[in-house]
Amino acid sequence: MSNRTFTMIKPDATSKGYTGAILDQIIKAGYSVKAMKWIKLSEEQAGLFYDIHRERPFFGELVQFMSSGPIVAAILEKDNAVADFRTLIGATNPAQAAEGTIRKNFAASIGENAVHGSDSDENAAIEGDFFFSKLERF
Ligand code: GDP
Repeated sequence: MSNRTFTMIKPDATSKGYTGAILDQIIKAGYSVKAMKWIKLSEEQAGLFYDIHRERPFFGELVQFMSSGPIVAAILEKDNAVADFRTLIGATNPAQAAEGTIRKNFAASIGENAVHGSDSDENAAIEGDFFFSKLERF
Protein backbone atom coordinates (compact mmCIF):
# COMPACT_ATOMS: atom_id res chain seq x y z
CA MET A 1 0.00 0.00 0.00
CA SER A 2 1.45 3.35 -1.04
CA ASN A 3 1.40 6.39 1.19
CA ARG A 4 2.34 9.15 -1.25
CA THR A 5 0.80 10.56 -4.38
CA PHE A 6 1.38 13.57 -6.59
CA THR A 7 -1.21 16.15 -7.62
CA MET A 8 -1.53 19.30 -9.67
CA ILE A 9 -4.31 21.86 -9.43
CA LYS A 10 -4.63 22.71 -13.12
CA PRO A 11 -4.80 26.17 -14.79
CA ASP A 12 -8.60 26.14 -15.16
CA ALA A 13 -9.02 25.74 -11.40
CA THR A 14 -6.32 28.21 -10.34
CA SER A 15 -7.71 30.87 -12.71
CA LYS A 16 -11.26 30.43 -11.41
CA GLY A 17 -10.12 30.88 -7.82
CA TYR A 18 -10.75 27.26 -6.75
CA THR A 19 -7.26 26.60 -5.35
CA GLY A 20 -8.19 27.15 -1.70
CA ALA A 21 -11.41 25.13 -1.87
CA ILE A 22 -9.66 22.21 -3.61
CA LEU A 23 -6.81 22.17 -1.09
CA ASP A 24 -9.39 22.28 1.71
CA GLN A 25 -11.18 19.23 0.26
CA ILE A 26 -7.85 17.38 -0.09
CA ILE A 27 -6.79 18.14 3.49
CA LYS A 28 -10.22 17.27 4.91
CA ALA A 29 -9.89 13.91 3.13
CA GLY A 30 -6.89 13.17 5.35
CA TYR A 31 -3.91 14.10 3.18
CA SER A 32 -0.91 15.97 4.53
CA VAL A 33 1.23 18.11 2.25
CA LYS A 34 4.85 16.99 1.93
CA ALA A 35 5.85 19.46 -0.81
CA MET A 36 4.06 22.24 -2.65
CA LYS A 37 4.73 24.92 -5.25
CA TRP A 38 2.86 27.48 -7.36
CA ILE A 39 4.46 27.41 -10.79
CA LYS A 40 3.76 28.07 -14.47
CA LEU A 41 4.98 25.39 -16.88
CA SER A 42 6.38 26.17 -20.32
CA GLU A 43 4.94 24.21 -23.25
CA GLU A 44 8.14 22.19 -23.33
CA GLN A 45 7.90 21.31 -19.63
CA ALA A 46 4.21 20.39 -19.95
CA GLY A 47 5.09 18.17 -22.93
CA LEU A 48 7.80 16.42 -20.92
CA PHE A 49 5.47 15.83 -17.99
CA TYR A 50 2.80 14.31 -20.27
CA ASP A 51 5.29 12.53 -22.55
CA ILE A 52 3.38 9.27 -22.06
CA HIS A 53 0.42 10.85 -23.93
CA ARG A 54 2.50 12.19 -26.86
CA GLU A 55 0.75 9.95 -29.41
CA ARG A 56 -2.77 10.67 -28.17
CA PRO A 57 -4.93 12.96 -30.36
CA PHE A 58 -5.43 15.46 -27.52
CA PHE A 59 -1.71 15.85 -26.71
CA GLY A 60 -1.40 19.31 -28.32
CA GLU A 61 -4.48 20.61 -26.53
CA LEU A 62 -3.28 19.14 -23.24
CA VAL A 63 0.14 20.79 -23.48
CA GLN A 64 -1.40 24.11 -24.52
CA PHE A 65 -3.83 23.99 -21.62
CA MET A 66 -1.33 22.92 -18.96
CA SER A 67 1.04 25.76 -19.91
CA SER A 68 -1.73 28.38 -20.16
CA GLY A 69 -1.55 29.55 -16.53
CA PRO A 70 -0.21 28.74 -13.10
CA ILE A 71 -0.64 25.37 -11.44
CA VAL A 72 -0.15 24.14 -7.89
CA ALA A 73 2.02 21.01 -7.72
CA ALA A 74 2.13 18.96 -4.52
CA ILE A 75 3.22 15.69 -2.96
CA LEU A 76 0.55 14.33 -0.61
CA GLU A 77 0.72 11.67 2.09
CA LYS A 78 -1.94 9.35 3.50
CA ASP A 79 -2.44 5.59 3.70
CA ASN A 80 -3.39 4.14 0.30
CA ALA A 81 -2.63 7.57 -1.16
CA VAL A 82 -2.72 6.83 -4.91
CA ALA A 83 -5.96 4.83 -5.05
CA ASP A 84 -7.84 6.95 -2.51
CA PHE A 85 -6.84 10.15 -4.31
CA ARG A 86 -8.15 8.81 -7.64
CA THR A 87 -11.47 8.17 -5.87
CA LEU A 88 -11.41 11.66 -4.32
CA ILE A 89 -10.88 13.40 -7.69
CA GLY A 90 -13.34 11.26 -9.69
CA ALA A 91 -13.48 10.25 -13.36
CA THR A 92 -11.36 12.05 -15.98
CA ASN A 93 -14.54 13.41 -17.56
CA PRO A 94 -16.37 15.48 -14.91
CA ALA A 95 -19.70 14.58 -16.54
CA GLN A 96 -19.02 11.00 -15.40
CA ALA A 97 -17.46 11.87 -12.03
CA ALA A 98 -19.29 10.80 -8.86
CA GLU A 99 -21.12 13.39 -6.75
CA GLY A 100 -18.88 15.16 -4.28
CA THR A 101 -15.63 14.40 -6.11
CA ILE A 102 -13.23 17.25 -6.85
CA ARG A 103 -13.76 17.01 -10.60
CA LYS A 104 -17.55 16.93 -10.16
CA ASN A 105 -17.34 19.98 -7.90
CA PHE A 106 -14.81 22.06 -9.84
CA ALA A 107 -14.11 20.76 -13.38
CA ALA A 108 -15.68 21.96 -16.61
CA SER A 109 -14.68 19.36 -19.22
CA ILE A 110 -12.60 16.24 -19.93
CA GLY A 111 -9.64 18.42 -20.91
CA GLU A 112 -9.96 21.17 -18.32
CA ASN A 113 -10.58 18.88 -15.40
CA ALA A 114 -9.25 20.85 -12.41
CA VAL A 115 -6.80 18.32 -10.94
CA HIS A 116 -4.24 15.66 -11.71
CA GLY A 117 -3.71 12.57 -9.59
CA SER A 118 -1.00 9.94 -10.16
CA ASP A 119 -2.25 6.58 -11.40
CA SER A 120 0.39 4.37 -9.73
CA ASP A 121 3.04 4.40 -7.00
CA GLU A 122 5.73 4.36 -9.67
CA ASN A 123 4.28 7.40 -11.47
CA ALA A 124 3.71 9.22 -8.17
CA ALA A 125 7.45 8.97 -7.50
CA ILE A 126 8.42 9.98 -11.06
CA GLU A 127 6.01 12.93 -11.07
CA GLY A 128 7.08 14.15 -7.62
CA ASP A 129 10.71 14.00 -8.75
CA PHE A 130 9.83 16.02 -11.87
CA PHE A 131 8.82 19.02 -9.71
CA PHE A 132 10.66 18.76 -6.41
CA SER A 133 14.26 18.48 -5.29
CA LYS A 134 15.15 16.73 -2.03
CA LEU A 135 15.41 20.14 -0.37
CA GLU A 136 11.83 20.99 -1.28
CA ARG A 137 10.12 18.02 0.34
CA PHE A 138 10.09 16.40 3.73
P1 GDP B 1 -6.43 11.11 -15.75
O1 GDP B 1 -5.46 10.06 -15.28
O2 GDP B 1 -7.80 10.96 -15.16
O3 GDP B 1 -5.90 12.52 -15.60
O4 GDP B 1 -6.66 10.89 -17.33
P2 GDP B 1 -5.68 10.47 -18.53
O5 GDP B 1 -4.36 9.96 -17.99
O6 GDP B 1 -6.47 9.58 -19.45
O7 GDP B 1 -5.44 11.85 -19.30
C1 GDP B 1 -4.53 12.81 -18.82
C2 GDP B 1 -5.15 14.18 -18.99
O8 GDP B 1 -5.30 14.46 -20.39
C3 GDP B 1 -6.56 14.35 -18.44
O9 GDP B 1 -6.59 14.61 -17.05
C4 GDP B 1 -7.09 15.52 -19.24
O10 GDP B 1 -6.62 16.77 -18.74
C5 GDP B 1 -6.45 15.27 -20.59
N1 GDP B 1 -7.36 14.56 -21.49
C6 GDP B 1 -7.78 13.26 -21.44
N2 GDP B 1 -8.65 12.97 -22.41
C7 GDP B 1 -8.80 14.13 -23.13
C8 GDP B 1 -9.58 14.49 -24.28
O11 GDP B 1 -10.30 13.69 -24.85
N3 GDP B 1 -9.45 15.78 -24.71
C9 GDP B 1 -8.63 16.71 -24.11
N4 GDP B 1 -8.56 17.97 -24.59
N5 GDP B 1 -7.89 16.39 -23.02
C10 GDP B 1 -7.98 15.13 -22.54
